[in-house]
Amino acid sequence: MSAAHLANKQRVVILGGGFGGVATAQRLRHHFKRDASVEITLVNRENFFMFVPLLASAASGSIETLHILNPIRRMIPGIHFRAEEVLGIDLNRRMVVSTSPVTGREALLPYDHLVLGLGNTINLGALPGVSQHGKTMKSLGDALHLRNHVISMLEAADVETDPRIRQELLTLVVAGAGYSGVETVGELNDLVHAIARNYPSLTRESFKVILLHSRERILPEMGPGLAEFALKELRRRGVEVRLKTRIAAATPHEAILSTGERIPTRTLVVTVGSAVNPVLAPLSLPREKDRVLTDAFMSVLGMPGLWAVGDNAA
Ligand SMILES: Cc1cc2nc3c(=O)[nH]c(=O)nc-3n(C[C@H](O)[C@H](O)[C@H](O)COP(=O)(O)OP(=O)(O)OC[C@H]3O[C@@H](n4cnc5c(N)ncnc54)[C@H](O)[C@@H]3O)c2cc1C
Repeated sequence: MSAAHLANKQRVVILGGGFGGVATAQRLRHHFKRDASVEITLVNRENFFMFVPLLASAASGSIETLHILNPIRRMIPGIHFRAEEVLGIDLNRRMVVSTSPVTGREALLPYDHLVLGLGNTINLGALPGVSQHGKTMKSLGDALHLRNHVISMLEAADVETDPRIRQELLTLVVAGAGYSGVETVGELNDLVHAIARNYPSLTRESFKVILLHSRERILPEMGPGLAEFALKELRRRGVEVRLKTRIAAATPHEAILSTGERIPTRTLVVTVGSAVNPVLAPLSLPREKDRVLTDAFMSVLGMPGLWAVGDNAA
């Protein structure tokens, strides 16, 4: 039995230090700031919070990479923080298993209330070649990798003499037009046009920037007016937006579409394929697709003491 439990404390464990987890910790700290009987712990694999909506801007360099990061400890004073990987959850014993990425030592974290805020993951297994040849846009590493990759494509195109290969190098395809895809294609389009000035052999017309979306309209998260505005703006800036078209497969040199068309490219960014977090996958929880069903108070349906927030919650 933990010291907190022996002292008759309510132990709240929050998993994930994204928007959902950090906001929950901040609200609970505010609410229980004078209540010593509540002990709150937040677990996240990194010790920083990332402002994800600006990830694409970090990739394009329109914002300094470090400016989208904030140390979690500074955001949640008074809350226990553990920079650990969550390995699993034992719902019956009310216990989280975590591990330090440095020492590999495992810890057992007992809880009275557990908040699931681990976000989702990407599974591209159903699309042949896409996980190998597509680039994701989920982490800081993804953003830096994409930026370096795009710049190396421009360098290669500048000295390429075969027009077919040159066009392949200068074609960028983004699959998925939710927030992530729209922000990424907009930033990439701005990036290549801005830095093309440094390459005498390249003009605005040298590039093809293509956005694929399976539905009839982009940005399903937004109202139709704003989505229509964003679509017009992307097209005005030269992005070729293809609606009702999915990415189906990829090779090192092609994006293969649901229509059968093959677009020669070496840059395919994939923002589709959202899947349940692997920590939650084995648990028997009420689900809708990759999210856990909750009531209006974010309490997981039929599971007292279990809560879900952010991308984990439906
Ligand atoms: C490029 C991009 C742009 C976006 N733009 C917008 C936008 O403009 N507007 C908008 O509303 N939404 C936007 N979104 C979506 C938005 O970012 C998500 O809805 C939001 O981040 C979800 O927050 P969350 O806290 O649920 O999960 P996340 O932000 O995914 O946070 C989950 C946290 O849990 C950690 N974690 C996961 N698994 C483990 C584990 N096993 N052990 C330890 N830690 C773990 C992760 O490292 C992460 O810190 C965008 C998403 C992307 C990718």
